[in-house]
Amino acid sequence: MSGPRVVRAPRGTQLTCKSWLTEAVYRMIQNNLDPEVAERPEDLVVYGGRGQAARSWEAFDAILETLKELEDDETLLVQSGKPVAVFKSHADAPRVLIANSNLVPHWATQAHFDELAAKGLIMYGQMTAGSWIYIGTQGILQGTYETLGSLAVQRGWGSLKGKFTLTAGLGGMGGAQPLAITMNEGVGLVVEIDPERARRRLEHRYVDVIVDTLEEAMTLVQEACDEGKPLSVALIGNAAEIFPELALRGIIPDVVTDQTPAHDVMAYVPAHMTLEEAARLRAEDPKEYEKRSLDSMSEHIKAMLEFQRKGAEVFDYGNNLRQRAFDNGVKDAFNFPGFVPAYIRPLFCEGKGPFRWVALSGDPEDIYRTDEAIMELFPEDEHLRRWLVMAKEKIHFQGLPSRICWLGYGERAKAGLKFNEMVAKGVVKAPIVIGRDHLDSGSVASPNRETEGMRDGTDAVSDWPILNAMINAVGGATWVSFHHGGGVGIGFSQHAGQVIVADGTPAAARRLERVLTTDPGMGVVRHVDAGYPEALAAARRGGIKIPMMKK
Ligand code: NAD
Repeated sequence: MSGPRVVRAPRGTQLTCKSWLTEAVYRMIQNNLDPEVAERPEDLVVYGGRGQAARSWEAFDAILETLKELEDDETLLVQSGKPVAVFKSHADAPRVLIANSNLVPHWATQAHFDELAAKGLIMYGQMTAGSWIYIGTQGILQGTYETLGSLAVQRGWGSLKGKFTLTAGLGGMGGAQPLAITMNEGVGLVVEIDPERARRRLEHRYVDVIVDTLEEAMTLVQEACDEGKPLSVALIGNAAEIFPELALRGIIPDVVTDQTPAHDVMAYVPAHMTLEEAARLRAEDPKEYEKRSLDSMSEHIKAMLEFQRKGAEVFDYGNNLRQRAFDNGVKDAFNFPGFVPAYIRPLFCEGKGPFRWVALSGDPEDIYRTDEAIMELFPEDEHLRRWLVMAKEKIHFQGLPSRICWLGYGERAKAGLKFNEMVAKGVVKAPIVIGRDHLDSGSVASPNRETEGMRDGTDAVSDWPILNAMINAVGGATWVSFHHGGGVGIGFSQHAGQVIVADGTPAAARRLERVLTTDPGMGVVRHVDAGYPEALAAARRGGIKIPMMKK
């Protein structure tokens, strides 16, 4: 085949597969590799450094071919992006079960993983890359919006108006940062080494302006802060150079975080190198690359610690930068918190997390109808309403039209049943796929991120995401996945995903009610077990049966 291969999900109501359940999988894996959605589709990379949708193009083709023939009482098994079996199951069972990147803990090192990956025996699935429910930058936008909003409330600012946020990385997820800052009325400076990445965010209106020098950037930032106007500035440069330079000049932002790909030392670009030089060194001398990368991360984090000492609100945004720097000798790297214990855990206690959905029709109008339905379902939630109104106005759909908002226990099942009813009545043109990030209240064990600083010290206990995957499979999610290493890298996390299709049938309604109850329910239960009073209250309100819960 000549030239790069372009993949795009089919639209409309014509089925290629035998039912909407398998058609949904068929469309969503292709949607993950849509050039509008994926960061490097030619390498099957969807987002997050090396997160792939399939292990190879042969495996990708085989998955599509298998889905076309898959019956509604069969289940396809996928092992690290490769289809390995089709078994007879039953109509309510998942149509696909996925296990990606998993290694027995003692062997769960990056080196062993890389050795297997080089031989084509395993694949890095990140979170939603290998489980086919990545929806582009919007997916993370809501989480970042919630995080920054919660931070502003906690600091007593109300919003980020007139506040300067410094961060880095405009990749698949990091690209959401500038818009999340301006949606919270703030001023953002985002350092990005790759001009192409910055240009892409500008095209999608996620960032307002791109500049090449720190002087230009700071003039714009200062003016906008003084005027209290929202503004996002992308500065082409290396965070490991720019952050220390700002600290040296005594410029202290109000808020500091980072979304460079520090989870992957080979993806983080070391200081004082062009992108081309970095690519060459990566290929020719990986050991030297790794050393330079880690040394740069150390400089990067030392500047963040300096900002913190001078009064900035500094937090880690889940890329494992602190761990890398700590392992490289920066002993106070963990002096600032991760974003989950700082801002998100109270939401997790109520089973709240990133509920997302996709219109299989491909028609944006279907999403606008669901937006209205959500606002009607939860009229008292002003925060949710503000998000949905701004999302409609500001979000450029990537691939199949989609939406995300954070919903909790009880709310998700309600929303799922409503969508199913809308499909049944023809209010939307085709079925709706409902999923979520693996970063959710009860679906992940990741001690440097989602489960950092758990009250009872169970940060590394991964029984919870395993139970989450099992109960969602039993309940009839359309596809269920279990991954290792997402977000923070190999050895540092284990997590589960689920996606379920609202095809308008009564059988789907039963499955939706079950799965959209157990899935956030696991979040409540996990936090009850760890002793969070907010979770206890949520469990009582929701009437969740927990055998050893205090009455
Ligand atoms: P990505 O690989 O798509 O993008 C990373 C970006 O950083 C790229 O554009 C790259 O050019 C740039 N970059 C690399 N080195 C740099 C440097 N030294 N200085 C400036 N820019 C540099 O990754 P992504 O999907 O955007 O995710 C980034 C990281 O943030 C990951 O580690 C991810 O797990 C983490 N993250 C976590 C959460 C969360 O926990 N909720 C959310 C978003 C992102």
